[in-house]
Amino acid sequence: MSENRGKFTRDAAQAYLAHEPEMQVEKISDSIWTISDGNCRTIFMEGQTSVIAFDTFGTPGRARAYKKAVADSIPGKAIKTIIYSHDHLDHCGFAADLSADAEIIADEICAKVIKLRQAEGQSQVTKVLNGSKNEMSIDGCKFTLLNPGPTHGSGNISAWFAEDKILFSSDTVLANAKYGFVPDYHLCNFVKFMRGFLELEWDVFVPGRYGLTDRAGFEKGCDYIEAVQIESQNAFAEFVPIWAFEPMKGYVINKLGERFADLEGFEDHVGQTALRIVHHYLMGGWGLEDTPEPSVLLADEVEL
Ligand SMILES: [Zn+2]
Repeated sequence: MSENRGKFTRDAAQAYLAHEPEMQVEKISDSIWTISDGNCRTIFMEGQTSVIAFDTFGTPGRARAYKKAVADSIPGKAIKTIIYSHDHLDHCGFAADLSADAEIIADEICAKVIKLRQAEGQSQVTKVLNGSKNEMSIDGCKFTLLNPGPTHGSGNISAWFAEDKILFSSDTVLANAKYGFVPDYHLCNFVKFMRGFLELEWDVFVPGRYGLTDRAGFEKGCDYIEAVQIESQNAFAEFVPIWAFEPMKGYVINKLGERFADLEGFEDHVGQTALRIVHHYLMGGWGLEDTPEPSVLLADEVEL
């Protein structure tokens, strides 16, 4: 059996790509479910005649397991719409295995990156969104897609379900400290844009990984990232060897343990998070997305 490969080049990856994990599904409103493979998480909605699925999970096997879980939860309705929360393969890489003929909705920047990436199994975007706010009405479902600017990956969009008071934002603020912040978090504006979502009315936050949280958990998640940013800068002032893992880990555990040790995964992850964040300050960011005016990103470089 040969699976869609994403960007893998070795046959050894087939076992990983084909694995179909057990999915955990939870209904969180009359028309919205959340689903997790034990690590990544997303949502899907029941429309009048079809299903609207956010994201795809990160392998063909996971996409098929997602499809089966949707069919079990909403029998008789096919996935006709897939909305990409951002460009990354571990969340949105395998729409071809989830629903080959669905309409694919994504932000313009996400669509451009996917067009250039040419990853096997990552379906191209068929409906491109522009701007920071799009009011959607799909098959009887009304919700708002928001892109305040770069937070994570390329062309990130969050979904706000005003009536159900639910916010979904993939791979951003977590209810724990279990993320290392590889260069996919755009720190220049990250906390500012994420805190902006607190101006909306919602009670339940669905992150792109791990468990759900509430407004207090979301605020603590923002506080945590901000605190690591502050202590990463202080590390320069105290001449910590910022490129070395153990000294950075020890430094931030000492500084932040009192406030944040209760966050799951704190001790195991805060060191690598800080190591990534100090390099944001060392180098000034990772590209156009880490500038105060990120709207120039790929502005006229790629045609869809
Ligand atoms: Zn991501």
